[in-house]
Amino acid sequence: MRALILSDIHANLEALEAVLAAAEGLWDEIWNLGDLVGYGGAPNQVIERIRPLQSLVVRGNHDRVCCGLTSANAFNPVARTAALWTRQELSTENAAWLKEIPQGPLHPAEEGVTCAHGSPLDEDKYILNMRDAWAPLQEMDTPVTFFGHTHIQGGFTQKGHHWHEIRPALGRSLHASAAHSSAPATKPESWTMNLAGGTRHLINPGSVGQPRDFDWRAAFALFNSHVDSDPQESNSAVTVAQITFHRVPYDLVTSQGRILMAGLPERLAARLREGR
Ligand code: ZN
Repeated sequence: MRALILSDIHANLEALEAVLAAAEGLWDEIWNLGDLVGYGGAPNQVIERIRPLQSLVVRGNHDRVCCGLTSANAFNPVARTAALWTRQELSTENAAWLKEIPQGPLHPAEEGVTCAHGSPLDEDKYILNMRDAWAPLQEMDTPVTFFGHTHIQGGFTQKGHHWHEIRPALGRSLHASAAHSSAPATKPESWTMNLAGGTRHLINPGSVGQPRDFDWRAAFALFNSHVDSDPQESNSAVTVAQITFHRVPYDLVTSQGRILMAGLPERLAARLREGR
């Protein structure tokens, strides 16, 4: 089974279209980790595009605020402005649909997987470092948990006393070339990692519509749950699944134009180029 894992689309239609084009033919199901709306200028279009395609969706904190389930008071001024604009902009049908999105963590039909927006222990909590990751790694009853919310692609892995942060080797050209030129990465890139049996993983596919890891390209991940195990490997390290992290460029200017035309804060358009 192959799943396309999406998170934090944030009403960025152009980024979503680029991701769907890049992942075409590579997935059986879409699992969406939430924050479909908020920040970006195309909330209705994004909902209408992704809704019929996805098999599972977890609500995000922006989804919750943008459909009026909770107040925007806890948001910073820029996020609040965007949330209140989104509330006005959403069609009655789309707002009603957002309200019905279940709170995570959720389990797809595929065994051994959990999907959450923030921490699986608290939807509003950010998992930014190993200290944040530790309790969820201990407490989740599945070997793999997908999460979003931080807009940072990667994750955390643990086996007994051994643990490390997963940092996809993407955007290296971006950083390496920074000293020589200011040209951002403009090509698609991917990086594959085997998920060994007996190991626990917290995996963030990154943000489709508002990356914050200094790479402006739309982020997503593909999960393959049935990988042929390598007979050369010892039983304890047998590969049971595979995750591929992807970055794809998208039509940034059109997306920024939607934000500016909507009268949303300019910062929301500027940060898309900066990837932060
Ligand atoms: Zn988000």
